[in-house]
Parts: sequence; C-alpha cells; structure tokens
Amino acid sequence: MGGCFRRRQGRQENATQRKEETKHGDLVYQWEQRRPACEDVETNVPCAQQAFAVGLASVMGLLSGKKGVVFGVANKRSIAWAIAQAWKEAGAELAFTYQGDRLKENVSQLAETFGEDTLITECDVTQDDHIDRVFNEVGDKFGGKLDLMLHAVAFAPKEALEGTFVATTREAFRVAHDVSAYSLVALTRAAAPLMTEGGSIVAMSYYGAEKVIPHYNVMGVAKAALEASTRYLASDLGEQKIRVNCISAGPVNTLAARGIAGFSSMLKHYEAHAPLKRNVLPEELGATGTFLASDGAAAITGQVLYVDCGYQVMGM
Ligand code: NAP
Repeated sequence: MGGCFRRRQGRQENATQRKEETKHGDLVYQWEQRRPACEDVETNVPCAQQAFAVGLASVMGLLSGKKGVVFGVANKRSIAWAIAQAWKEAGAELAFTYQGDRLKENVSQLAETFGEDTLITECDVTQDDHIDRVFNEVGDKFGGKLDLMLHAVAFAPKEALEGTFVATTREAFRVAHDVSAYSLVALTRAAAPLMTEGGSIVAMSYYGAEKVIPHYNVMGVAKAALEASTRYLASDLGEQKIRVNCISAGPVNTLAARGIAGFSSMLKHYEAHAPLKRNVLPEELGATGTFLASDGAAAITGQVLYVDCGYQVMGM
C-alpha cells in the first residue's frame, strides 16, 4: 500500500533526504521533514483513497481471466464485499451467493454493479442441496471452470457470544461449527471438481481461534476448527494445485462483528495495542485476498495469514 499514512500530531512525519555542500566542499545529507499530502491529525488510519489507488494500479490484471465464487456478502460493510471488489479490480469474474430472502435485495444491488449478468444465487451453507445447486449454476455460468472461492461465512447464536464459554449449549456449539467451520469442507468438496486447472480457496478467521478473547467464546472454538480444516484440505487438494488458506483479520465493524458483546472496546484495544496503532481496513483485507488468489502466492497453502496490524505478535 502507498506511503500516505495519516499520523497523529506529535508522531514522526515522513521525511526526505536532501544533499547539501558544506563550506569545506563536503557533501552531507540532511533529513527534511515532509507532511504527507493527505494528513489527518485526528486519526491514525491510512488515507484509504490514495492507498487504494496505489494498490489498484499494482494489482490490475493480476487475476484476469479467473472465475470465482463469493460466499458471505451481507452488505457493503462485509469483508466478503471488500475482497470481492479487490478480486474484480484485479480482473476476476465473480458469482455471489446470499443466505435467504432477507439479504437477496442487498446482495443483488451490490453484485449487479459487477455487471447485469452476474450470477447471484441463494445458498444456506448448512443445506447440502443448496451447495449442490450453487456449484451446478457456477459450473454452467463459467463453462465448467472455477479458479477462486471466498468463504466469509460465520454464525453463532447471539446468547453464545455474550456470557461465558462454559455456558455454551450443545445446540449453539453445533450450529456455530456447522455454519462457520464444516461449511468450508462442504464448499471446498463441491468446488474442487470445477477447479480443473488448480485454484485458490480463501477463508476468514480470527485470533480467537488461538487465544481467549472475551465473549468470542464458541466462535473461537469454531475458528480453530476452521483453521485446522484449512490445513487438512490443503493437504488433500495440493496435488490438484488447489490451495487453501485463511486470512486472520483484525476486528472490522460489520454486521456479524456487532453481534459480539463489547465489540467496540475490541476495536479500541487493537488501536491502542497493535504495533501499527490502528485497525485493519477492509481494502487491506481485499489486497491480501488478491495476493492469496494470485500466482504470487502459488507456493502458499494451509496457512493462516494475520492481517491485523501486527496485534498477533504482542505478548503484552
Ligand atoms: P458479515 O458481513 O455479517 O458476513 C457474515 C456472512 O455470513 C453474512 O453474509 C451472513 O449472512 C453469512 N451467513 C451466516 N450464516 C450463514 C449460512 N447458514 N449460510 C450462508 N451464509 C451465512 O460479517 P463479516 O465480519 O464480514 O464476516 C465475514 C467473515 O469474516 C466471517 O467468517 C467472520 O467470522 C470473519 N471475520 C470477521 C472479523 C470482523 O471483525 N468483522 C474479523 C475476523 C474474521 P446473514 O447475515 O444472513 O447471517
């Protein structure tokens, strides 16, 4: 991403080096402070527009000719939408799914901006018949070929994301794992036969898979299952040149995230403690998603990539 990061007052500014001649004729180098073009002293967030423009120029064409299917767009704040936009900018042609009529209009409005003939179809990932139908439609749409799949789907009953983990019911545990972890196995099994020239499958995870995050509870356990599934799927499908990876994202303000009790304090905590002293931007997840989908990541599979402004490396 470009070098146009907004900084808080008092932090080090960007600087450039300037050559100067002393009165003895020696050349010395002076550091010259330079204010970034789009500085905003109130935030520590990259200038999204400029960074995105730089990113865009460097990824255009990276995924040209690739066909992909995206699971998990609910609205324009969805991580799936950020990654889908980045994949499209890189040249991919995409199909979208939505869960149930409640989201149909939202997803259609967004996805149709990719072209009137974009495939937009219903898929509840807990329903095997939905999955079979979706991949038949995707195969028909893309001439029997698929290169990319994004899994950005998760769910746990609200009450399971509020109290203690020990209170998790059998049903909440089952539902969370079915929607958030098993679905990757089921979708990958259905996608693989279409990935005749290899492929890249990207799933979204979170640090709660690894460490205890208050209120994340059963979703953390489901994300651990998702990450372990990623490794087993990568092992099974590597010979077919199908790569399976997870992006472990820092917190992003989405519909699903707002269901976690205390989510806004999580955002503040990351901003205070992550090495980069800010939260990740959706377009940065898009850029990582594009990298994982591209040939640049051709030797990367079974991995969990942290895109969290460095939070995961901190011990305290
Ligand atoms: P989001 O916009 O609410 O997306 C979650 C999606 O999952 C929604 O489209 C949701 O549909 C869908 N979904 C739930 N149950 C489903 C089912 N049975 N079948 C099909 N789709 C279903 O939230 P998001 O934050 O972008 O989440 C995307 C992924 O990123 C999730 O895996 C999440 O765990 C992960 N992630 C998020 C964060 C964060 O801070 N936001 C951080 C790390 C990882 P409904 O709205 O109908 O339920």
